[in-house]
Amino acid sequence: MMMTRPRIITVANQKGGVGKTTTAINLATALAAIGEQVLIVDLDPQGNASTGLGIDRRDRAVSSYDVLTGDITLEDAAVATAVPGLSIVPSTLDLLGVEMEIAGAPDRVLRLRNAVRASSERVGKYSYVLIDCPPSLNLLTLNSMAAADSVLVPLQCEFFALEGLSQLLETVEQVRGSINPDLVIQGIVMTMYDGRNNLANQVVEDVRAHMGEKVYDTIIPRNVRVSEAPSHGKPAILYDLKCSGSQAYLQLASEVIRQERKLKAA
Ligand code: ADP
Ligand code: MG
Repeated sequence: MMMTRPRIITVANQKGGVGKTTTAINLATALAAIGEQVLIVDLDPQGNASTGLGIDRRDRAVSSYDVLTGDITLEDAAVATAVPGLSIVPSTLDLLGVEMEIAGAPDRVLRLRNAVRASSERVGKYSYVLIDCPPSLNLLTLNSMAAADSVLVPLQCEFFALEGLSQLLETVEQVRGSINPDLVIQGIVMTMYDGRNNLANQVVEDVRAHMGEKVYDTIIPRNVRVSEAPSHGKPAILYDLKCSGSQAYLQLASEVIRQERKLKAA
């Protein structure tokens, strides 16, 4: 089997509660359902992606903390999930201290990238690596941007959606200007859309006017089944495949795949 490099996508937005983790989990599950081999890297100390994929605390003996602070490769830290084709490097609260621990190290921003490269041969079995970021533009998020090919930005359909986006885009520009010139915006996905709310349509229009082609056609609806799924340790797509939220994430996955085909053909 020929090993190619996986596409590494970091799911980032410094605002909390905008749907980063939900998007990482369900996009990853949808990609795996289509037959891709997918790895999630949980870089949030809260570990919501790990919990949402049913990874027990006891099964987090090795975590993203060890990847950033030690010599553990990404592949050695990966554990299987209940979703065929989907693995995760889980996180623990140890990550809270990582910023201070590595602050003085010259390679502090490159820890994740170095770990990806150190395990590159075996990471080659994955076609996608999705990184779930904490709600901050901190050293963890910078590590993800240094390691990634692209940034996927979930934006909640609410009045302040665009606020903060410029700061995020500025950070991406800074990373491009320094440690990772090839970093691009993979896309912007509007989340938690409520059609009964007139404002939501206005917000989607505004974001499309500002960001144009970068905004995915797929809009993720607000859906109770999506919010229930994590407490069952399952992605929404496993919990209730038919619900509108799961269907939207499947559609988002096919948009991402189409993007990748275009990229490869170019
Ligand atoms: P973030 O990772 O950006 O902090 P989350 O993905 O954890 O955001 O989402 C925040 C909260 O909103 C969670 O409780 C999640 O279950 C809920 N949520 C996310 N997306 C949806 C959706 N499409 N419909 C309903 N609830 C959602
Ligand atoms: Mg999160």
